[in-house]
Amino acid sequence: MVISLNRRSKIALTVALSLGLTACNDPQSKTDKTATAEAAVINTAPDKAQAIAFINDAEAKMAELSIESNRAEWIYSNFITDDTAALSAAVGEKVSAASVKFATEAAKYANVELDPINARKLNILRSALVLPAPLDPAKNTELAQISSELNGLYGKGKYCFADGKCMTQPELSSLMAESRDPVKLLEAWKGWREIAKPMRPLFQREVELANEGAKDLGYANLSELWRSQYDMKPDDFSQELDRLWGQVKPLYESLHCYVRGELNKEYGDSVAPTTGPIPAHLLGNMWAQQWGNVYDLVAPDNADPGYDVTELLAKKGYDEHKMVKQAEGFFTSLGFAPLPESFWARSLFVQPKDRDVVCHASAWDLDNLDDIRIKMCIQKTAEDFSVIHHELGHNFYQRAYKQQPFLFKNSANDGFHEAIGDTIALSITPSYLKQIGLLEEVPDASKDIGLLLKQALDKIAFLPFG
Ligand SMILES: [Zn+2]
Repeated sequence: MVISLNRRSKIALTVALSLGLTACNDPQSKTDKTATAEAAVINTAPDKAQAIAFINDAEAKMAELSIESNRAEWIYSNFITDDTAALSAAVGEKVSAASVKFATEAAKYANVELDPINARKLNILRSALVLPAPLDPAKNTELAQISSELNGLYGKGKYCFADGKCMTQPELSSLMAESRDPVKLLEAWKGWREIAKPMRPLFQREVELANEGAKDLGYANLSELWRSQYDMKPDDFSQELDRLWGQVKPLYESLHCYVRGELNKEYGDSVAPTTGPIPAHLLGNMWAQQWGNVYDLVAPDNADPGYDVTELLAKKGYDEHKMVKQAEGFFTSLGFAPLPESFWARSLFVQPKDRDVVCHASAWDLDNLDDIRIKMCIQKTAEDFSVIHHELGHNFYQRAYKQQPFLFKNSANDGFHEAIGDTIALSITPSYLKQIGLLEEVPDASKDIGLLLKQALDKIAFLPFG
């Protein structure tokens, strides 16, 4: 399953992960804060003009850093060498240091009454860090060490089966997807979780430290920081989430019930009971978060739509460039302007034979204006045809907000960019395939059930996990 990251989101994540690698928490800040509180009586609390001056300055500096960072990251991802990795890490540290500095400073203005635009910008600056470190330098270092240790434990984690064969996480994931042996599946599921035991105390400490970091930025805890980015009060966001989930839950429960019944037919009562929760190791995924890998076990009879997009692409002579051209046509048919020449000159579509690149599909916006690109090692398959539509969804969205001030050049919230891409990808229906000449006849509507079930196994099953 290819999940792409929007550039800005990825930078936000990098900031969180690399936080503390730079010695950026100035103990002076704490002194300033106290001084400000004491001085408030003589009316020197930060005022509106100071807040706006700070926002404008921070926005200009982040805009400048963003272009430098985009270029360094693009070059690194397209030419992976020790040198490009060092340059990418260096600019990453600069972005991280600036984000920490601006978040800490933004917290000082949290109670200043501002117009809606500046209030939103201030909130974006203040809540940009996914895992904020406490102001105390020793705790900042401790949080960085814990994050790095957890990454290492996870990345190097493996499980060795009784027969002596050891597997890494990607290998265990393939086994979860492909094996239909319930004993082996259960062992792999339990085995992978052995790596989590030494992580537990580290996670507990990470939560304590990040909660303290969020408090230093003026939030009650880290959860409140995360929930304060949705144009509503943090508690209203929690309620809204519950309300929306309530709407989808009956569909999830039907899917769960149906899949449980089909798995029971496959494995029998002792392995897959007809009541209660479905044993997680039977769902084709290490986290049971997407169930598409067991489609063959649960698909109804006669659900085959009678065509295979991968075969159709080959039959009609589609190469990587033509696949992207076709996806561009989807957007121009909606009235969007065609992609700029630079997109075609600068994007990466085909895995180079002579160098290492990051193949994971991604959409880029290099100059925050028109220099949009995609980078992916396209396979001429149905899945990648859909992923290209998804990636171009990011690019057309990025271009649609290019007139906004820099801090607003991102999706409305951190889920929205992916939602745009995925909504577009859902439009690759049989009638769309006929419109673009890939398919001769749209199959009878009774064949939709297989296509819809496939979508539900990945997308509806994911919701409670997400
Ligand atoms: Zn995406």
